[in-house]
Amino acid sequence: MKACVFCKIVEGKIPSHKIYEDKQALAFLDINPITEGHSLVVSKKHYNHFLEADERELAELMKATKKVSEALKKALNAQGINIGINIGRAAGQLVDHLHIHVIPRHGNDGLKSWEGKPIENTEETLKKIKAVLG
Ligand code: AMP
Ligand code: ZN
Repeated sequence: MKACVFCKIVEGKIPSHKIYEDKQALAFLDINPITEGHSLVVSKKHYNHFLEADERELAELMKATKKVSEALKKALNAQGINIGINIGRAAGQLVDHLHIHVIPRHGNDGLKSWEGKPIENTEETLKKIKAVLG
């Protein structure tokens, strides 16, 4: 945890371009933005990822994410917003500190959405998931 880059940003030990702060959350510009204004909303408390945080913490983080999303939409005249949370390396998580990506979108920004393919093995998939969720 000592080497955590986002903990260091929260503690003010390394610089960031902060845009919002409240009791639980801090938001700042991503250093390598996907689009102009791409920001990260991070919990002030360290959790390795989304699944490790308790529900109340996540609810507060979502409130901050909504505020930041509304502000970015207005400030940058965005037509849409992507909100993303990566959990684990397989999902592209590089920084092991809970954070939410807020990515302003414009119709002409050239970014492609994830590509889906027709659903397969539906019954098998449902069976596996229902075995966990009931
Ligand atoms: P993820 O892949 O979900 O873990 O995303 C980590 C994000 O943190 C990436 O988009 C990085 O560009 C961003 N990032 C890493 N270090 C910093 C930093 N010091 N300040 C701002 N953003 C950062
Ligand atoms: Zn941390």
